[in-house]
Amino acid sequence: MAKIVCVLYDDPVNGMPKQYARDSLPEITRYPDGQTTPTPKAIDFTPGHLLGCVSGELGLRKYLESKDHQLVVTSSKDGADSVLDRELHDAEIVISQPFWPAYMTAERIAKAPKLKMIVTAGIGSDHTDLQAAMDRGITVTEVTYCNSNSVAEHVVMTTLALVRNYIPSHNIANEGGWNIADCVERSYDVEGMHVGTVAAGRIGLRVLRLLKPFDMKLHYLDRHRLPESVERELNLTYHTSLESLTRVCDVVTLNCPLHPETEHMINAATLKNFKRGAYLINTARGKLCDRDAIVDALKSGQLAGYGGDVWFPQPAPADHPWRTMPHQGMTPHISGTSLSAQARYAAGTREILECYFEGRPIRDEYLIVQGGKLAGVGAHSYSAGNATKGSEEAARYKRA
Ligand code: NDP
Repeated sequence: MAKIVCVLYDDPVNGMPKQYARDSLPEITRYPDGQTTPTPKAIDFTPGHLLGCVSGELGLRKYLESKDHQLVVTSSKDGADSVLDRELHDAEIVISQPFWPAYMTAERIAKAPKLKMIVTAGIGSDHTDLQAAMDRGITVTEVTYCNSNSVAEHVVMTTLALVRNYIPSHNIANEGGWNIADCVERSYDVEGMHVGTVAAGRIGLRVLRLLKPFDMKLHYLDRHRLPESVERELNLTYHTSLESLTRVCDVVTLNCPLHPETEHMINAATLKNFKRGAYLINTARGKLCDRDAIVDALKSGQLAGYGGDVWFPQPAPADHPWRTMPHQGMTPHISGTSLSAQARYAAGTREILECYFEGRPIRDEYLIVQGGKLAGVGAHSYSAGNATKGSEEAARYKRA
């Protein structure tokens, strides 16, 4: 019997929905590169229902209890007295989602002598100290591709919202106003603008494809170059440095993982190389950016807008300056946890658990760390080390 600790975000303030806005989800069996969506032997949930919150339990309880495993589900994850800390001593598997991450620091890993696997029900395992996991031989997995397209849609939405000044204009309508000049004094078209993605992986490439029909000029920076056929199809300009990309782009979007090589890549010095009035969209990880440098750049006008859904730490304390800085389109971390995405990552988590308990190999594309080293997708996209420093700040959050 194994103990599985699953950290999920809180239920809706008014309880679980009695009815959903829609009755079904479109059926998607493959991602754009041909990879199949998750293939567990079975699922015990209704796709389209809330699965990522505590009562949703990622639809795992029936399956795990039928195999005599113990499942503990909690949202209490920060501070020394958290349920997560109390349950770690005999946990074999910890599952959490990046939206409400269980920061698996070296200290926590040291408190969990039986821990064998850490599962990210989503994409992005930077909330785990990967170095500590490697040192202890713990497997780290995530559900690659499960919400990449969901995030790309959020990037497009935020780009349009910022450039067209949608959010302030919507607020004016809500407040009973009609002053059009106030709405449009910061409103532009994206047509003809240059947009560049830092990383053209699953999300970054999807963003480029989605923005192409707006007649934007497309740029990218990545460690590996895309196939020539893709560059030609999308008329892409490839950059080998952040400086070269930011000097020409009106919109910059960050789509790389957070790891020691990318932490704080956007800072006061690199922001000086942006065009004045650029828009920066970050749905990748908050810590890719220096928090205060972003606030300063918005105040000075170096950036015309900043948007996204990722913060550091998460949840962000009430006084986090990104909540109140000017010209921003921030949301809590939601882009990868639409009901559509939840169905995929709940199924992917089930697939990973089935493989683990049945002694079958976990798909290479789901592996980040295995056998003491970066593995699978992790070996391609991450660098060794730790990016969790400062996560204890999350304990300062109080539910509004
Ligand atoms: P992929 O692994 O498909 O893409 C990541 C890309 O980042 C790869 O192309 C990789 O390049 C590139 N990369 C890594 N390091 C660098 C670097 N130093 N400079 C430039 N490029 C780099 O992942 P996804 O596109 O699916 O996801 C990307 C990230 O988005 C995730 O790691 C996660 O942090 C975030 N995310 C956010 C979500 C949300 O809800 N907001 C949900 C899902 C993901 P190469 O392959 O050439 O090494």
